[in-house]
Amino acid sequence: MSKTSIHPALITKVLPDSIASEIGFEPGDRLIAINGNQPRDLIDYQFLCADEVLSLTVLDATGKTHQIEIEKDYDEDLGLEFDTALFDGLIQCNNRCSFCFIDQQPPGKRQSLYLKDDDYRLSFLYGSYLTLTNLSQQEWERISQMRLSPLYVSVHATEPEVRSRLLKNPRAGQILQQLKWFQERRLQIHAQVVVCPGINDGVHLERTLLDLAQFHTGEVPAVASVAVVPVGLTRFRPTEDELTPVSPEKAAEVISQVLSLQDKFRASLGSTFAWLADEWFLIAGQELPPESHYEDYPQIDNGVGSIRSFLRQFSDAAGQLPQQVSPPRKFTWVVGNAVEKAFQPVLQQLNSVVGLEVKMVALCSHYWGQTITVTGLLTGQDLIQGLQGRYLGDAILLPVTMLKHGEYRFLDDMTTEELAHQIDTSILPVGGVEELINLCIK
Ligand code: SF4
Repeated sequence: MSKTSIHPALITKVLPDSIASEIGFEPGDRLIAINGNQPRDLIDYQFLCADEVLSLTVLDATGKTHQIEIEKDYDEDLGLEFDTALFDGLIQCNNRCSFCFIDQQPPGKRQSLYLKDDDYRLSFLYGSYLTLTNLSQQEWERISQMRLSPLYVSVHATEPEVRSRLLKNPRAGQILQQLKWFQERRLQIHAQVVVCPGINDGVHLERTLLDLAQFHTGEVPAVASVAVVPVGLTRFRPTEDELTPVSPEKAAEVISQVLSLQDKFRASLGSTFAWLADEWFLIAGQELPPESHYEDYPQIDNGVGSIRSFLRQFSDAAGQLPQQVSPPRKFTWVVGNAVEKAFQPVLQQLNSVVGLEVKMVALCSHYWGQTITVTGLLTGQDLIQGLQGRYLGDAILLPVTMLKHGEYRFLDDMTTEELAHQIDTSILPVGGVEELINLCIK
């Protein structure tokens, strides 16, 4: 599917003390146009709002249209939030990757869980990965004209036949020409390579990383960084797929191969450039690289260095921990069993505060059929299975990485409210180190 027609943007929130709240905007109003132009998405909206004089065409909840004139500083935000970033619909994916996580979900869920996005706007706005296989000429031009950079691109392999095999799409073979296109326009991408043993590992992985490194030159390198990620498989994957799970031996092989390429990249490019996701070290049972390895953490949202970064932030913030809390409190901190060992120092420090008791429950995902699970993949059902019947203390400390972006919903569609009800305990979402400490001591 491509996009549908543009819908007036539905306003879901009006920020207090903002221009929009002063004017009297209300949730439920719809923004039709700005200075006569209908925004297609949040990118257009932001662009059109960067003006000092705005004429807004707005449809209120009763169906009445209003024309509103505003004068503001060019960089002043109106204070509106919308139900979606894409007012003309999602650009869906035209590939059929056998490792696609959407296809590896159980059947019978809400239709929207099966939507495969491959939308450059989401990539620009939120850092989601896209493949570049479905862009029209107009969209390429828009990326260039609006300088939508950096984008996040799933490269997987640079050899045309290997990438086409992985994405099951003949259009996938044009990746090197596309990277050249970015380079010519001084636009940037961050790349990811999902390694599928037997398909794009070994010599293919080496070829891919060396090819990508060719684009890491000049003041604005077209390929800013690469994340190398192990393929994730679930028990719902189609039986006829051609995939092999990553074994500890395979993980050790990839680690050693990429570490040695990193040495070369540091020498020739002045940067490690291609980074291994933490998961490789967890699968192989090896020590994570030291914190100094990760430079400015260019691929942290892809699980590259997130454990080291969390431990560092915690040790920086640990000075805020009091000697004692009163009244005493007890919490259960739920994590994926892959990080159980790595987070022990954090647990010990929290428990050294008199009156504070934090118990870690490290779970694997029976839902996905995994024996080792990273925290972000635990589902509501896994938590019910792992927590029901246990004494959980005053509340659950729940890492927000388990929840969908901006929602209180797990990957299996369960809400935190449903979970709290089922296990009869409050849930405290934890967004990072500061929040973890504050929830424990305040
Ligand atoms: S590009 Fe992404 S969404 Fe599309 S099939 Fe491949 S993995 Fe799935």
